[in-house]
Amino acid sequence: MAYKITLIPGDGIGPEVADATVRVLEATGVAIDWEKVELSASIIEKSGTSLPPHVLESIERTGIALKGPVTTPIAGGFKSVNVAIRKQLDLFANVRPVFTLPGLKTRFQDVNIDMVIFRENTEDLYSGLEHEVVKDVVESLKIITRYASIRIARYAFEYSKKNGRRKITAVHKANIMKLSDGLFIRCCREIATEYPEIAYNELIVDNASMQLVMRPETFDVLLLPNLYGDIVSDLAAGLVGGLGVVPGANMGENHAVFEAVHGSAPDIAGHGIANPTALMSSSILMLRHLGEGAAADRLQRALAKTFREGTHLTRDLGGSCGTNDFTDSVIHNLD
Ligand code: NAD
Repeated sequence: MAYKITLIPGDGIGPEVADATVRVLEATGVAIDWEKVELSASIIEKSGTSLPPHVLESIERTGIALKGPVTTPIAGGFKSVNVAIRKQLDLFANVRPVFTLPGLKTRFQDVNIDMVIFRENTEDLYSGLEHEVVKDVVESLKIITRYASIRIARYAFEYSKKNGRRKITAVHKANIMKLSDGLFIRCCREIATEYPEIAYNELIVDNASMQLVMRPETFDVLLLPNLYGDIVSDLAAGLVGGLGVVPGANMGENHAVFEAVHGSAPDIAGHGIANPTALMSSSILMLRHLGEGAAADRLQRALAKTFREGTHLTRDLGGSCGTNDFTDSVIHNLD
């Protein structure tokens, strides 16, 4: 029986990379019955809410979504649709595997990078609690709870145990934010004691950022509160080729949204040159979530082969091909 999955192509380059991803998934032979849901900046503006009900209802029904980027206005306009989805569906864990792609030229191409980043997804400075205290003085509240910190820490340790990961590094700034980050780190320590087989250490976020650039190969699993997780996961993406190649997943108790972490790239939208690797890689995470490990492995190998061959890469990767040629190559390389 076919899996019922919500497909949110998004806007900008979203529909282009979504079409490409649907094509490679079809080629794996895994039967998926897509429930396609339109979402774009203009639909959001018209509906007056950053998460129109038809989108939420679809994901609630299917439990799983594959999502392309959606344009968000900066400093004003509607609130981020991504933040709204995460909050509404309580997608508390943001998971980003970051690994070296064979043959891809990066500043770190000679280093084997293979890490998974777990970012708490619901609170911290992303609680959206901001107000103007008096004119020209704004307060933004950083919320850290024991509930959310324990939940993300347990998720990271459970994942590590199931996937043979050996070391978790919790990242914080508890030397300055002694109460809030202090609580986060105490929760991480508490959960770490339940998993003696997994090594556990802590790094202050500024030092962690430097170490990631100096010695990225020494990291295995990173565990971070929301804001540091957002920044550090993009930094880590930069080590392996940028946002165009890394996958992302937002996981909750009952729902999962797999998404490309790059934006809608309005500068190249509609030209057929977008790189679909990020959404394809996210769909590999989705296949694993569905229990389709063999198809996930096949697609991962095909993608890796296209990178190793290096003859069908998109422009952002130093190649000269368009989205379709890249996609054809991945399909051709499926064993
Ligand atoms: P962006 O990721 O869209 O683009 C940054 C640069 O990277 C651009 O030069 C773009 O051409 C390039 N790029 C990004 N993805 C690419 C791909 N797959 N292939 C080739 N090149 C790619 O970031 P931005 O310009 O800061 O944001 C544009 C819009 O996207 C904004 O409205 C922003 O709010 C939104 N956004 C959405 C999401 C999301 O929905 N998940 C995430 C980030 C940004």
